[in-house]
Amino acid sequence: MDFEAFFKNELDGLHAEGRYRVFADLERHRGNFPRATRYTADGEKEVTVWCSNDYLGMGQNPKVIEAMKAAIDHCGAGAGGTRNISGTNHHHVMLERELADLHAKEAALIFTSGYVSNWAALGTLGARIPGLIIFSDSLNHASMIEGIRHAKCGKVIWKHNDVADLEAKLAAADPKAPKLIAFESVYSMDGDIAPIKEICDLADKYGAMTYLDEVHAVGMYGPRGGGIAEREGLMDRLTVIEGTLGKAFGVMGGYIAASAALCDFIRSFASGFIFTTALPPALAAGAVASIQHLKVSQFERARHQDRVRKLRALLDQNGIPHVPNPSHIVPVLVGDA
Ligand code: PLP
Repeated sequence: MDFEAFFKNELDGLHAEGRYRVFADLERHRGNFPRATRYTADGEKEVTVWCSNDYLGMGQNPKVIEAMKAAIDHCGAGAGGTRNISGTNHHHVMLERELADLHAKEAALIFTSGYVSNWAALGTLGARIPGLIIFSDSLNHASMIEGIRHAKCGKVIWKHNDVADLEAKLAAADPKAPKLIAFESVYSMDGDIAPIKEICDLADKYGAMTYLDEVHAVGMYGPRGGGIAEREGLMDRLTVIEGTLGKAFGVMGGYIAASAALCDFIRSFASGFIFTTALPPALAAGAVASIQHLKVSQFERARHQDRVRKLRALLDQNGIPHVPNPSHIVPVLVGDA
């Protein structure tokens, strides 16, 4: 086979469909959020980044940066191993305690990204719980889809945010089969929010576990930044809350928060947790500083919501269509829409 010709042909297909991706080559400016330098073939340009997931600018927060620098000075650059083999640094342990406290759960477990946490946790639950059926919202993130696919367990897809459809599908399933409902709180493409309470009610009725991805909500909602479930007083009703350290917390990494037994189960059986080098201690230290700050400071959350209102008003004034929703995500309609 001519491998190079194959690769080029596949890429030509992407070009023809208009789906070929070109990355913006950016250098963010510390202290001048959200400005950056963009490098192009024609030279450098100063730009404003309108689509950052560093929603609250915590990636540039002085407390976060100082904590990361101090951890590097103290521990060096990398973790030096997998969590099993000498890579568990005290900063990881402190971060897991901080996250368990954030979500009022017995325990938390960190991963190298939110993607890996979804993939590893759902993949392990689905593969290891005999007969488990995962009920997955049709707009769930690719990381959840891949985890469920990897588990090779039973899978039922229900209509996005449609509790009637979810109930019909739960009712049609074998009553004796163990079940898990997987969904997100804030959906990143349309910015809509799941009916968490109603989904938890159904989970109770049908004896299902619940798995909530709060990636676009942690740090952003709730009095301590615990997400939509915290804001709505529902954290205790969720079996697993999953989040990222790479968006509102401004650093990198992912996690689940759940019972001590569930976290220990994933820690002990998930290949995506066990066989990979632990996060650099400085990332964990930065995440701890960020979470601690956002647990007590309302300033960033309030200002962010204010900016969202302002942006929507300016878009309206200038006749630029955008999708209304109850979150901070402002999908702007382009083209013929
Ligand atoms: N879950 C959702 C809903 C996401 O949008 C993303 C990333 O964009 C992830 C999980 C993955 O998180 P991370 O970027 O930390 O890998």
